[in-house]
Amino acid sequence: MLKALEKFPAEEYALPFFKEHGYVRKLCPRCKTFFWTLNPEQETCGEARAEGCATYTFIGNSPTKRSFTLREMREAFLSFFEKHGHTRIKPYPVVARWRDDIYLTHASIIDFQPYVTEGIAPPPANPLVIVQPCIRLVDITNTGPTFGKYLTIFEMGGHHAFNYPDKEVYWKDQTVRYHHIFATEELGIKPEEITYKEEVWSGGGNAGPCLECVVRGLEAATLVFMQYKVVGNQFIKLPIRTVDTGYGIERYAWLSQGAPSAFHTIYGEVLDRIFEMAGITNLDTNLLAKVAKTSALVSLEKAASLMEARRKIAKILEVEAEMLDKILSPIENAFAVADHTKCLSFILAEGVVPSNIQEGYLARLLFRRIYRLLRLLGITDRLYDIFDMQIRYWSQDYPHLKEMRDEIMEMLHAEEEKFKETISRGGSLVKRITEELKSRGFKKIPVETLTELYDSHGLPPEIVKEMVEAEGLAVEVPENFYSLVAERHMQTRKATEEVEHEKWTEDEVAGLPATEELYYKDQYMTSFEAKVLKTFKDKYVVLDKTCFYPEGGGQPADTGFLMFDGGKVEVVNVQKVGKVIVHEVKGENLPKAGSLIKGFIDWDRRYALMKSHTATHIVNAAARRVLGQHVWQFGTQKGVESSRLDISHYRHLTREEVQKIELLANEAVFRNIPVEISWMPRTEAENLYGFRLYQGGAVPGKEIRVVKIGDWEVEACAGTHVRNTGEIGFIKIIHSERIQDGVERLEYSVGIQALKAVQRVEGLLWRVSEILNSPLEKLDKTAEKMVRDLKEANAERRRLIKEIARLESLSMGAKTETATIREVSGIKLILRDFGEEVDVNRMVQTANEITKKDDFAVTIFYGADEKTARIIVMAGQKAVEKGVDANEIAKEASKIIGGGGGGRRNFAQGGGPLREKLQEAVKKAEEVLENQLKRE
Ligand SMILES: [Zn+2]
Ligand SMILES: [Zn+2]
Repeated sequence: MLKALEKFPAEEYALPFFKEHGYVRKLCPRCKTFFWTLNPEQETCGEARAEGCATYTFIGNSPTKRSFTLREMREAFLSFFEKHGHTRIKPYPVVARWRDDIYLTHASIIDFQPYVTEGIAPPPANPLVIVQPCIRLVDITNTGPTFGKYLTIFEMGGHHAFNYPDKEVYWKDQTVRYHHIFATEELGIKPEEITYKEEVWSGGGNAGPCLECVVRGLEAATLVFMQYKVVGNQFIKLPIRTVDTGYGIERYAWLSQGAPSAFHTIYGEVLDRIFEMAGITNLDTNLLAKVAKTSALVSLEKAASLMEARRKIAKILEVEAEMLDKILSPIENAFAVADHTKCLSFILAEGVVPSNIQEGYLARLLFRRIYRLLRLLGITDRLYDIFDMQIRYWSQDYPHLKEMRDEIMEMLHAEEEKFKETISRGGSLVKRITEELKSRGFKKIPVETLTELYDSHGLPPEIVKEMVEAEGLAVEVPENFYSLVAERHMQTRKATEEVEHEKWTEDEVAGLPATEELYYKDQYMTSFEAKVLKTFKDKYVVLDKTCFYPEGGGQPADTGFLMFDGGKVEVVNVQKVGKVIVHEVKGENLPKAGSLIKGFIDWDRRYALMKSHTATHIVNAAARRVLGQHVWQFGTQKGVESSRLDISHYRHLTREEVQKIELLANEAVFRNIPVEISWMPRTEAENLYGFRLYQGGAVPGKEIRVVKIGDWEVEACAGTHVRNTGEIGFIKIIHSERIQDGVERLEYSVGIQALKAVQRVEGLLWRVSEILNSPLEKLDKTAEKMVRDLKEANAERRRLIKEIARLESLSMGAKTETATIREVSGIKLILRDFGEEVDVNRMVQTANEITKKDDFAVTIFYGADEKTARIIVMAGQKAVEKGVDANEIAKEASKIIGGGGGGRRNFAQGGGPLREKLQEAVKKAEEVLENQLKRE
C-alpha cells in the first residue's frame, strides 16, 4: 500500500446512502479505521481480527433469515444481480492463461484485467455478475488455524460495472445500495448488523477507496472502487472507473449456517469422511464453536506465532494451551487437507503439470504440503481416496473436474513417485550440508538453507528437520514457510510471444506510424513495393508497409533484399518494435527516406517456415490427443531444417507415444485440412474456443488473430501459415527428450527435410547392414546373434586369462625374459614388463593369483601401448603387514609418467602419457617399496 496515500479523504466515503439511512461515521480505537454504522453505541469497527476489535458472534447464531448451502448462496448471489440488470458470466479458469504477469486467478476482476479495465477491449457485458473460483496460496498457512476465514481456494462473487467517460453505469453509492439490499432483503440480515469499514485498496497496479462489509465479526464482502493506476509513488486517475466487488460466497454461506467452521459449510460430507479416515471422532463441537468465535486472533503472517494465538485463546476459554493444541492440531490439519486437495484438483484439472517452474511449482508446493498434512494425520494411503471424493463432490458444480479425473490421478501418482525419489536422494545431500554447517560452528540450520533445500532440491523443511535433528542440529521451520515460498513464486514473468527491445530502438521509431503488415493480407506474397519512412544507424530501414515477417512466436524473421534506385541491400533481420517493423540491412548504401523500394523475401525459406509453423500447431494437438488434456505448449522454435516444440507432461515420452503422435500428426497432414485465419474480439474468441487459445502465452490487444485448423486445433497466433495442411507433405519426429522436470521436447522436420531425416537414418541402417554383411530385413536378428556371440567370446576370454594367470603364477619362481624376481627385506618382489599388451584385466588377474599364493609377494606390473603407460602394484597380505603400501607406490610412480594413480594398500594402479619414462617410473616404484620396508 502506498505511504503517500494511506487514506483517502473522508468525502470519498460520504455516500448519500449513508446519510439517507442515518449511518454515523466513527473511528475504531483498536485498529484506527473509520467505519459507518447505524448503531451510535457501537465502539469498535466490529471486525474480528488479530488486533482484537471483536470476536465472531455468528457461530451458532446465524444473522440470516435461513441457512444457505454454498451452492444456494452462489445461486442467490448470481440471480439477485441478474434480477438487477446484470448479465451472468461463466467463471474463468483458475489458471490465468490470458495474463503474462500472474499464474493463478486470485480475484474476479483478474478476468477483466488488463484489457477491459484499461479500456483496450470492451467487457463481455456491462454491468455483469460472476462467481469466480479464486486461488490464493499466500494464505496457505492460515487456512486451517483460521477455521476458514482464509482459504487457498474460494469463490468470489463479483458484480462489476465499467464506467467510461461517456457511459456511466453505476458507481459507489449504487454499489453500496446493492450490497445493502442483497444482505438485508435477500439474506434477511438486520441493517444495524452491517458495518462498513473505510479502507484503501491497492493491487495489480490499480488502486482506489474501498468499503469492507462486516457482519457479526466477519468481513463478508469488499466493495472496491478502482479508479487509479499506481505509477511509482503516485496515483494516476484512470479514464475507466471500475466497480470491483468481492463477495465471499463461502463466508456468506458460513454466516448463514453459523457453523463451527467454514469447512463444515463448504465441505459437508467430504470433511466428515476426512475426519473419519484420520480417526478424529467424538468431536467436541461445543469446544470447537468456542474456539471458532476467537479464531480470528490467529494470523500467522502478523508476527504472532500459532502457539501464541493458542495461548490467548486458551486463556479466554480457560483451558490449558497445550491441551488445546493437542485437540485442535489434527482438526486444523484435516481442515487444511480438505481445502488443499480441492485447490490442487482445480489446478490439475486445468492441465497444470507439477514441476519446478511457473504454475507447476505452485501445484507441487500444494502436493507436498498435502502429503505432509496426511503424514501428520497418519493417512498418506488415503491420498487418492480424498482426491476422488473431492472430484466427485465438486464436479456437480464444475463438471470439467470429472472429465479430468483419470489424468489428475495419473499426475498425482507421478508426483508421489517423484517426491519419494527426492526424499531418498535428499538424505546424503542433507547429511553433507549438516556436516558442513556443524564444522562451521552452526547450532541451527538457517532459514535460507531450508528455503534453498526446498526451492532447488524439492526437500520440504519438515523432512529436512527430521533428517537434520538426527544429526544433532536444531531446525526451526517458520510457521508461514509455505506462504513465504508461494509468495516468491506468484508473480514471476511468464514467457510471452513478444520480443523485448532495447530502449534506443524504441526511441528511434517513436512517432512513426504503424507499419502495414502485408504478410497478414496475403501470406503467400513474395515481393512488394513500399516507401521508405526512415533509416538510422546505417543499417536500419523502416517502410510504410512490408511483407517481411518480423521475428515472433518462435518463428524466425524473414530474409531477402530491398531494391531501389541506385542500389540493393540484403535484409538480414526483421523486428517489430511496438507497432513499427524495423528491417536490419547489409549493403553499401541505404535507400533514402521518402524514396520507393521493391522488396523480395527469400520465399523458399519463408515457405519452409510456414510449413514448420503449421506443423507445430498440428504436433501440439496430436500430443494432446495422445497424452491428455494437460498437454500445453511450453515453448517452440521453428526452423527450416528442423523445429522443436516443448510440451508440459509428467513422464518421459515412450517411443510408442512418440510414434503415435507422429502418426496422428501426419493423418492431419494427409487430410489436407484448410487453415482458417481470422481476427476476433478477444472475448468472442475465448467464448468460442476457450482458453486453450493461449498456447503461446498471453496475447495482447483488443482483437486476437485466431488460427484454426479445422476440427484439429485452434490457437491465438501471430505467425504465417500454409493454406492447407497437405502443403506440409510429411512430418517426421526425429528426437524427443526431457528438458526439465515436467517439460518434454519434440524435435521434428517437415516436407523435404523430413524425407531427408528419414534418409539419414536409412543410410545409417544400410551402412550397418554392409558392415555386418547382412540384409536389412535380417539386421536385427544378425545384431542379436553377434551380441550373443560376443558375450560368449568375452566369457571365454576371461576364463582363459584366469587360466594363463594361474599358469604364470605357478612358474613365478623363475626369471623370464620379461620378469625379474628378487628378495627385498623378506619380501618377494616380482617385476614384469607386459610390453604393448596392456590388458589391465589380465595384469590384475595374474597379480591376484600370485599374491594369493604367496602372502609375501609384491607384484609391480607395467606396460605401455601407443597412448599411455600403465603401472599396477599388488601386495600380499603379509607384505602389507610388513609395511608395503601399493597406493603410495602407484601414486609416486605415476607422477613420473605424467599422470596420476592410487588405490588401496594392497592394490593400486596408475598411468600417464609419458611412455618414454616408464622405466624411470618402475625404478621409482622399487625405490618407494624399499623405503617402505626400511621404515619397519
Ligand atoms: Zn477495528
Ligand atoms: Zn503459432
